[in-house]
Amino acid sequence: MAATTSITPEILAKYEPVIGLEVHVQLLTETKAFCGCSSKYGAEPNTHICPNCLGLPGSLPVLNYRAVEFAVLASMAIHCEVRERSIFARKNYFYPDLPKGYQISQYDKPLGEHGWIDIPTPAGSKRIGITRLHMEEDAGKSIHDGFPDSATRTYVDLNRCGTPLIEIVSEPDMRTPDEAYEYLTRLKEILLYTGVSDCNMEEGSLRCDANVSVRPRGQEEFGTKAEVKNVNSFRFVRAALEYEIERQVEVIETGGRVVQESRTWNSQEGRTYSMRSKEQAHDYRYFPEPDLPPLIVSAEWKAEIAKSMPELPEARRARMIAEYDLTEQDAQTLTATREFADTFEASAKKAKSAKRLTNLYLSELTGRLKAAGLELAQSPVTMDGLVVASDLAEKGDLSSRQLKQIFDIAFEKNEDFPVVYEREKPQQISDPAELESMIDQIIAGNPKQVEQYRAGKKTVAAFFVGQVMRLSKGQANPALLNELVTKKLDA
Ligand code: ADP
Ligand code: ZN
Ligand code: MG
Repeated sequence: MAATTSITPEILAKYEPVIGLEVHVQLLTETKAFCGCSSKYGAEPNTHICPNCLGLPGSLPVLNYRAVEFAVLASMAIHCEVRERSIFARKNYFYPDLPKGYQISQYDKPLGEHGWIDIPTPAGSKRIGITRLHMEEDAGKSIHDGFPDSATRTYVDLNRCGTPLIEIVSEPDMRTPDEAYEYLTRLKEILLYTGVSDCNMEEGSLRCDANVSVRPRGQEEFGTKAEVKNVNSFRFVRAALEYEIERQVEVIETGGRVVQESRTWNSQEGRTYSMRSKEQAHDYRYFPEPDLPPLIVSAEWKAEIAKSMPELPEARRARMIAEYDLTEQDAQTLTATREFADTFEASAKKAKSAKRLTNLYLSELTGRLKAAGLELAQSPVTMDGLVVASDLAEKGDLSSRQLKQIFDIAFEKNEDFPVVYEREKPQQISDPAELESMIDQIIAGNPKQVEQYRAGKKTVAAFFVGQVMRLSKGQANPALLNELVTKKLDA
């Protein structure tokens, strides 16, 4: 990637960026928003179409109530008030991938309003307002043959026409590209937890338009914004915003004026280009959709939908931090997806010590998986295997060194932990006499540490345990060793 810019401290001392994001999210319904066609991604072009989603005369839309349920659930997850009576509206424009000549959307009476999400910033948690969440349908796709080198022909695939979307519009509350990145990350995480979308950016299930302006620090009034359309990764959103902030500051610093326009991000060149200015902007001539009644979401229906609300990521992290004595960072790792958090907690319930299981997962498993380039699903050591390991360690049947050796073999031979354990059954020295003679040997060789211990520094016991463990090549029974070391030292 070329020419990424960096915003210098001088620029930031003088100008304050203002950022608001518009996010389109495809809902995970089986069928489209207003007809029974499949909304599955990746079918042969123009096979998931019918008179309705093609807008043929005489066809009428029928609302998909599953889409409404998803939209309501998403609204509640981002703390929006859900309007009891919202209105579908036609958004009119001409484009080859929009055979109807309009999109069904919502305009002045959207489903959800006045929401927020919290994001972490270097200065602590920050609340970002959400202006609205409305329902709409997607358009089709134009496929430019040979693009970007030579677009000789353009085809249309109308499979996506009528796919249900929600659009989530933030308040202009973000002040840095990093905050925008965090907002998107948190929003996506919440949406994934609710299960309303797969948020797959490569397949276009989550798309972002980034609005940004700059103003002299201290000025209350916002500057003129530019909108960067359809950036397809969060990293690119951040890069596009950094580029735009630099560009706008330069325009102002050289005596120019920022014009309100839509721009497009070119990731190869690491810069944005103008697409159309305000004068060329669409006038969508919104009017209420005559073929659909107002959408009524009763209090009862809302309550019913609320029952399917899962514990959301932030609440889950807070609870797990308390329950398993985790750091914020560890909690982040364990809750990265709802599926994993569920798997992890199911295992933690099976294990004798949830704390030990957590530590083993974070210290023995994640590192090895990362080194081997594996996902948890491909791990030779399953979560059930990890529970076995954890329980053996908890009972003192395995030293940490033996445990590590079994993990190493498991990863080498692609076998689960219990399989390796059963075969190798590491030798353990559990004969008190044998251990005592080793302890005597270590005590005799370290008079200074013995003195420290007897002077009251009880933590020195760990030193003796460690030394004997080494002497036994990791084979001493840890529980028994601990007991005997204390006994000897106290004698
Ligand atoms: P438009 O009518 O051009 O679509 P909206 O008022 O609907 O503008 O806002 C679209 C998005 O742009 C919202 O996310 C909003 O927070 C953001 N936004 C509005 N004004 C500004 C501004 N001056 N600078 C940065 N972002 C802005
Ligand atoms: Zn259809
Ligand atoms: Mg807008």
